[in-house]
Amino acid sequence: MMDDAPRLWTRRRMLGATGGLLTASAWMPPVLAAAPPVKLPDTFAKTERERPGPPNPQPESERVGWAVVGLGHLSLEEILPAFGQMKRGKLVALVSGDRAKAQAIAKQYGVADKSLYDYKSFDQLKDNPEVQAVYIVLPNSMHAEFTVRAAQAGKHVFCEKPMANTSAECQQMIDACRKADRKLGIAYRLQYEPHHRAVIQMARNKELGTLKLFTANNGQNQGDPNQWRHKKALAGGGALPDVGIYCLSAARYFSGEEPTEVQGFSYSTPDDPRFKEVEESFAFHLRFPSGFQAHCTSHYSTHETKDLRLMGTDGWASMDPGFSYSGLRLRVGMKSKSFPKADDTVERSFSQPSQFAREMDHFSRCVQENVVPHTPGEEGLADMRIIEALYRSAQEGQAVKLEAAKKLDAFRGPPPKEEG
Ligand code: NAD
Repeated sequence: MMDDAPRLWTRRRMLGATGGLLTASAWMPPVLAAAPPVKLPDTFAKTERERPGPPNPQPESERVGWAVVGLGHLSLEEILPAFGQMKRGKLVALVSGDRAKAQAIAKQYGVADKSLYDYKSFDQLKDNPEVQAVYIVLPNSMHAEFTVRAAQAGKHVFCEKPMANTSAECQQMIDACRKADRKLGIAYRLQYEPHHRAVIQMARNKELGTLKLFTANNGQNQGDPNQWRHKKALAGGGALPDVGIYCLSAARYFSGEEPTEVQGFSYSTPDDPRFKEVEESFAFHLRFPSGFQAHCTSHYSTHETKDLRLMGTDGWASMDPGFSYSGLRLRVGMKSKSFPKADDTVERSFSQPSQFAREMDHFSRCVQENVVPHTPGEEGLADMRIIEALYRSAQEGQAVKLEAAKKLDAFRGPPPKEEG
């Protein structure tokens, strides 16, 4: 096993060092056992909502070191600022093709000059023991190459969605990480988000009755025709893999099921220079084994629209916006328990910490505690297989059947523990 974490003891190293004498239940990472969380006395009455309490971040020296690869919009606007809210991870290296930009950003975030890399020198990350996890935030076609190279450099990999451009590339990424004994996580930020987690919990507890239908729309109006998102070789596709994937993914994680029949409809306005290579809009229908169905649309030419609604026999949960980085609004509707002649519609508001800090803290914990990520490579591969089937369906003008999954949440790791 490659060892890039000299300060943090993995369970395997601990067992090895003690000749396997410690039992799994007796084992505790020594750094965590040594630092009990600080708690404060309650200030509010029991009728008030529970506060998360102090964040209790780990000391800097014990956190997982991250390298962020690609310094575009998502990295600069969301991911790097999120390190300020993290409890288990810290930014230690940057990878960019633009040295001047990397140096400017390094100054802002306190990254050492020696920890700046470009796409050629990327493999030298193997000699930087401070870096344990690498976050790939590049155009979609580059995800596979940089995941494989990161794994070969002995680093754990967290990769943006869509996982890659094809399911074959997704499989290569999974294989490379497995071979190098490194973790692979896909950045499905909403699977760690409190409102989405609440809907998952309501669905699993049957609070909405039997799930029947999911509808969702995710759209934005695209600008510059020359950006990589409009080049098939770089993006893999248009609205579907970029924004439609959120609807597809939510239908899967709210129900826990995998679709067995899918049908897709693609459209691009003729002569619009943005959509010469990738689709402008993609609508799709998914059928699941229990009879649950999803109907979703994704757009590259509508004003920002991000709504969803999960409908069961006894109630519904609706979010608008439902896919944004912040400002999510969740409403739940069902027959009133107090007034049988009325419906209750309640708004459930959770605090909204950075979704990126949450998912990166989860992945950091997986590295520290040797746990399978909640959204591993297999979860990204599952979406990509369905996306491929949807494109085939749109091309052939008919529904495409898919293999049934053997269990609920077939491709997910254990639920995230992150709170707050
Ligand atoms: P972006 O265009 O803003 O940034 C891409 C970065 O890659 C830039 O720094 C660019 O210089 C670099 N790059 C390297 N080689 C390139 C090439 N050949 N062509 C173009 N750029 C190249 O894109 P972004 O919005 O930051 O998206 C990056 C990734 O993050 C994509 O996979 C995207 O799907 C994903 N993303 C995820 C979310 C989310 O909510 N999870 C949101 C936005 C983007």
